[in-house]
Amino acid sequence: MFLRVVFTTFLLGSTVIVQFKDRESLIAPPFLVLYGLIGTVYVLTFLYVVIFKRLGPTLSFTYAQIGLDTLLVTLLIYVTGGIASVFSFLYLVVIVYASILLYKKGSLIMAALCSIQYGVMIDLEYYGILEPFYTQASLSVQAYEGSFVIYKIVMTVLACFLVAFLSSYLAQQTVRSERELEAKQKDFRQLEAFNASIVHSMDSGLLTLDVAGAITSFNTAAERITGFARAEVLGKPLATIFPEVVQRYDTSAESHQKGPYRHDVTFRKSDGTVGYLGFSVSSLRERGGRAIGNLLIFQDLTAMKIMESHVKRVEKLAAVGEMAAGIAHEIKNPLASMTGSIQLLKAQVGMTSVTEKLMQIVLREADRLNGLANDFLLFARPSSGKVEPVDLGSAIEETLELFEQDAICRNRIKVRRRLAPNIWTKMDPKHIRQILWNLLLNAAEAVDGTGSVEVASEVVEDMAQISIKDDGCGMSEGTQKNIFDPFFTTRAQGTGLGLSIVHRLLESYGGRINVESREGLGTTFVLCLERIQSPGLLP
Ligand code: ADP
Ligand code: MG
Repeated sequence: MFLRVVFTTFLLGSTVIVQFKDRESLIAPPFLVLYGLIGTVYVLTFLYVVIFKRLGPTLSFTYAQIGLDTLLVTLLIYVTGGIASVFSFLYLVVIVYASILLYKKGSLIMAALCSIQYGVMIDLEYYGILEPFYTQASLSVQAYEGSFVIYKIVMTVLACFLVAFLSSYLAQQTVRSERELEAKQKDFRQLEAFNASIVHSMDSGLLTLDVAGAITSFNTAAERITGFARAEVLGKPLATIFPEVVQRYDTSAESHQKGPYRHDVTFRKSDGTVGYLGFSVSSLRERGGRAIGNLLIFQDLTAMKIMESHVKRVEKLAAVGEMAAGIAHEIKNPLASMTGSIQLLKAQVGMTSVTEKLMQIVLREADRLNGLANDFLLFARPSSGKVEPVDLGSAIEETLELFEQDAICRNRIKVRRRLAPNIWTKMDPKHIRQILWNLLLNAAEAVDGTGSVEVASEVVEDMAQISIKDDGCGMSEGTQKNIFDPFFTTRAQGTGLGLSIVHRLLESYGGRINVESREGLGTTFVLCLERIQSPGLLP
């Protein structure tokens, strides 16, 4: 609508100016018609705007406007000389913008409208039915040959249709390529987003270096592993974050034309902690194959390295333990023969009191040695045991009875019980007794002079819980940290195996042990064991 107004104003305005040279008055009849046309276009445009505001961009409205345009052009041609008018090209302009707005169908319809109007108008003039509006006699249609008139009409019609075909073809082509471009752009954006999300969600650190060795990208995992923020490292050389990598390996683009390689080195995170880094470098290439930098993929192997060294230590310990257990086992046999022999000798008469005392020492120490070998074997090779339902109450009761008879407890320690009935667990009864015995022994050893030990059992959070509380010497925090380590002891005669055995046995049943102790006040050990339903209640 806007362009139509501009175009009309310029075209008809310039016509007025050009023609004005030949005429004296600006109100000669031909001018008046031109003014009328310009005015009509203005009025029409005003109406169009009003209608457009009401209806919005509808197809029939567009058809109506362009249809009216063809009529206006015909009118213009008529008033400017019919067959001699220079304005017949305006049909083509109308058809071109019809093709832009209405595509093929619309532009063909407009071409047909133009052809009909032009043909009818020229014919009517030719046969004298329509008076030429304004023209010199030499230019009137009757001055031409009939064949020329037909030729002119056919040419105009042909031009109209040709332009309709070509321009609608071009318009459609443009629309199609615009759509394709849009779809491609959308695909591209999606692909880009997808790539970015892959790079940033991957678990491995990923960074790229340009040919000069400066960091050009740094993904989220890389930030997490190194502790550096992306903005901090972009554009910096690799040595800023991984000096060890740069020192020990050639990371230039040319050095791994042969393909990727893998290494591991220690590295320092941004907060100064030292970690272990596994990385591989491959060269980054363009589509054409030209190297444009390097790609570094890396993982934080710190946790894995710690685990690895732990496993190694455990393996080494296991091997040493296995050997020691073998030796301990071998010690027991000669020890048994020695003890037996000494006992036989002791039975013989004629011993001085000194000999007897010495033999007593040998027997006592042999006993101790045997105990140590037994403990050690229990620790190093706990028998897998016969797992069966155990009533904790009776297991505790049996052990306590033995304990009360033992010299270490008798007349010295008062034992109190708080046992809930009917708590069952599943383990080898020998093992639970061993555990309780070791803990009771420790409690008794912690008590200097007289004291008391309280043993309680209850169900806590569906676990069987046993606590053994003494009012002995207690222990410092430093001691508490080490008590479960094998051979850790604070007692002159201790082996440091008691709690290690407890820990080891409990571990094999998925149980837990906790200690609470205050120096000088006493200690409580709390055991947690898996609880099962009483076997008597099972169907
Ligand atoms: P041992 O009894 O041969 O010393 P254990 O493994 O049984 O070895 O105990 C390790 C250490 O834990 C003991 O030397 C002792 O210092 C401490 N300990 C264990 N139980 C108690 C307790 N009830 N009260 C105070 N200290 C304890
Ligand atoms: Mg002990």
